[in-house]
Amino acid sequence: MVDIKANIENIRKQIPDNVVLIAVSKTKPIEDLMQAYNCGQRIFGENKAQEMRDKHEVLPKDIQWHFIGHLQENKIKYIVDYVSLIHSVDSFKLLKEIDKQAKKRDRVVNCLFEMDISHEESKFGMSYEELNEILANEEFAMLENIRICGLMGIGSITEDREQTRKEFRELKKMFEDCKAKYFSDKEYFKHISMGMSGDYDIALQERTTFVRIGSGIFGERDYSKKI
Ligand SMILES: *Cc1c(COP(=O)(O)O)cnc(C)c1O
Repeated sequence: MVDIKANIENIRKQIPDNVVLIAVSKTKPIEDLMQAYNCGQRIFGENKAQEMRDKHEVLPKDIQWHFIGHLQENKIKYIVDYVSLIHSVDSFKLLKEIDKQAKKRDRVVNCLFEMDISHEESKFGMSYEELNEILANEEFAMLENIRICGLMGIGSITEDREQTRKEFRELKKMFEDCKAKYFSDKEYFKHISMGMSGDYDIALQERTTFVRIGSGIFGERDYSKKI
């Protein structure tokens, strides 16, 4: 049996006050989320738009929903009304579409740019060059219904912890450069989202502000089971 409460309490002991714990609840049933909720957890991460919408509908309204997966433009509608942060903006086209839909709802949607730090084929994310192109674009300056709060990255799947550390340092450096160049007067550009169950300790050492922990809280995921 997975002890969700013990897992959350154990993780909370390890993370400093300025770091935000995101309980990654993808594929997990409502009862598991409620267990975490009852230990005071209010921030949940999901990677499928419809699944997040379904959970948002039935769960308490003081939960903050963070979207952490690859977002298709035609799925923005499932989350745009309530999402509190989209971690995974990986193209200018997607950002513009989020802005457009947020405008219709009279909302400002908080976003992070997802950076490619692992260089693995299967992962999404942008190069630092692409990011610079977006931020220097006049069109970007005109978007009023998105707010860029920082950068996100997913480390390589590897046993080599020094490799992971290198990737997290690279992300931190991109964040610092980007802050100095484009966001020095923007108080809200202050977040780095890196670190999952297997590598959040390294992310904490490298001064992340969000950790995204799934299996370390809820146990292994079983993708064969329908939620
Ligand atoms: C699934 C997922 C996580 C959590 O992974 P665990 O290894 O279960 O902690 C974190 N970030 C992203 C983007 C994910 O898709």
